[in-house]
Amino acid sequence: MNRTKPYKMNSAIKRFIMTILFLTAAALLVTACGGERGQETESADNGKLKVTTTIGMIADAAKEVGGDYVAVTGLMGSGIDPHLYKASHGDVAKLDDADIIFYNGLHLEGKMAEMFEKLEKTKPTIAVSRNISEEQLRANPAAGSGAHDPHIWFNVKLWMSATEVIRDTLAQKDPAHADYYAERAADYLGKLEQLDAYVHEQIGLIPEKNRILVTAHDAFGYFGDEYGLQVTGLQGMNTMSEYGSKDVSKLRDFLVENGIKAVFIESSVPRKSIDSVIEGAKKLGHEVAIGGELFSDAMGDEGTEEGTYIGMVKHNVDTIVQALK
Ligand code: ZN
Repeated sequence: MNRTKPYKMNSAIKRFIMTILFLTAAALLVTACGGERGQETESADNGKLKVTTTIGMIADAAKEVGGDYVAVTGLMGSGIDPHLYKASHGDVAKLDDADIIFYNGLHLEGKMAEMFEKLEKTKPTIAVSRNISEEQLRANPAAGSGAHDPHIWFNVKLWMSATEVIRDTLAQKDPAHADYYAERAADYLGKLEQLDAYVHEQIGLIPEKNRILVTAHDAFGYFGDEYGLQVTGLQGMNTMSEYGSKDVSKLRDFLVENGIKAVFIESSVPRKSIDSVIEGAKKLGHEVAIGGELFSDAMGDEGTEEGTYIGMVKHNVDTIVQALK
């Protein structure tokens, strides 16, 4: 009896402790779930507009204009190529959940077009390029007749038009805060105007004969047109188009003939394409350096200077001027 009693007591204590532990864990779990649900309800109750965007540049503009009344979710982070991007299940949920969807349009998000067509029927699904006139758009004959170059953010003036589309859409959906959006947009548009002047001024520092920009894919056409650089890319305007040995030798010869000393890599395009051109030029006795990495179709990491549109443009311009000056 003396032997079994302590054993029984131990086992009862153990069971008691286990029960307490279980109840505590269960209580914590309920609190955690309740907390999460509480936050979600809170943001919905706050009346924040839920905005989902494709590329980071659009998310940035929506945050700048929307301020405290908009919750922005960008689907494509740093290093992501929008031409090849396919929506995941998680993305579909974020698109379904949104009050407004902003995308670039002009077939930048080539694999999402059908999805936008469907979403258009249920909520504002807006291409931020919609107000840019035919004359301001660059043709992209490689993508078919009537197709346009989608990389409008490289001309800051065109990106101002995109920002106005965001402002007007937010005001229409949420008229109670229209004045707030207008004020914030005016402030941001002022900064973009200054940015535009900065790019003109900085590119002007490059000697005219050096104003040739060679990159992996043809994203910088609007940039070249507006700010006065000749632009050549290895791939077409769409990173889906395969480049062949013919393209490599063509670009190699272009570098040699024009005595081009620096080419640029892009954060969202694999580097090997431009490396093969540099190697080819080297075999012909012409040394070409990597002038630096440019942000083309995706911004830098969130929280960094280059993770904003203005910071990204400044980084590109400073990198180009440094290498070609
Ligand atoms: Zn591109």
